[in-house]
Amino acid sequence: MKRLSVLAILFGMGAVSASTSGLQPQSPAAAKPVLAIQQLKDNLYLIETGSLVGPGFAGGNTAVLVTDSGVVVVDTKLAGWGQAMLEQIRSVTPKPVTMIINTHTHNDHTGSNPEFPASVEFVAHENTKANLSKSTCPPVTNCQAFKGGNAKFLPRTTFTDTRSLLSGKDRIDLHHFGPGHTNGDAFVVFPALRIMHAGDMFPWKDAPFLDRGNGGSGVTFPATLAKAVAGIKNVDTVIGGHLPPTAWSDFEEYQRFNQDILTGAQQAFKAGKSVDEAEASLGVVQKYKGYESRRVKNALTAIYEELGQK
Ligand SMILES: [Zn+2]
Repeated sequence: MKRLSVLAILFGMGAVSASTSGLQPQSPAAAKPVLAIQQLKDNLYLIETGSLVGPGFAGGNTAVLVTDSGVVVVDTKLAGWGQAMLEQIRSVTPKPVTMIINTHTHNDHTGSNPEFPASVEFVAHENTKANLSKSTCPPVTNCQAFKGGNAKFLPRTTFTDTRSLLSGKDRIDLHHFGPGHTNGDAFVVFPALRIMHAGDMFPWKDAPFLDRGNGGSGVTFPATLAKAVAGIKNVDTVIGGHLPPTAWSDFEEYQRFNQDILTGAQQAFKAGKSVDEAEASLGVVQKYKGYESRRVKNALTAIYEELGQK
């Protein structure tokens, strides 16, 4: 019980820590087989996240698009899972992986980049490239994985606001709407399939991890999500960072949930309440069915820090 809660807290702090804190004694190989590939629709597959805590935690959800010109992979989980992902991909297509898109910098979404061929075209938002290129960083940022010879696994194809890749039924639209989870979050849309990978801008049904060290912002998070809700059209299904594929309406609900957290935090901050008092008065989780509150306090703490700096 105690160990579980410690892991839960670590995970709430940023997903990260399970792989680097020494609390995860087993190697990824020992944790197999949590990876399985499932066909979501037509040429799009999903390699799910595995369990959220403990040795079965492999990282974020991975989307796999089998295109005419090769396989596109969105997010590469923690380090050590590249071979397992390649095996799953090979079970559905003989085509090589030709492109990897990283939704953001975190080590549970970029960890296995160096385990794919260097011939792959690596794609990410320009701020994610900058975060991964930092000279030093905490483990969650994952810049250490791209030093020296591994610099060739850094994103070289980047974008600012929007960019389209490939064409026809294989077209992929990338969008960025401003700071949120980090300062480099990409929404990856497969228009022909009406499916989107939202990365950790929709991580789970709980408060998000706000990575202020990488330019994330709880004050901006709901507005950034609102821009995504308004600006992205014709999507039915959303792949979240760490939750099973869900409806577009759930994504819209996540925007409202985050707006409620921010509004509650701002009111409590103005009234001089502590973070604990703010959490107690929030009551937001009860309002949203199926939501958890494990990460609300961390989010409120980050928002308070941000409000205090204004
Ligand atoms: Zn993340």
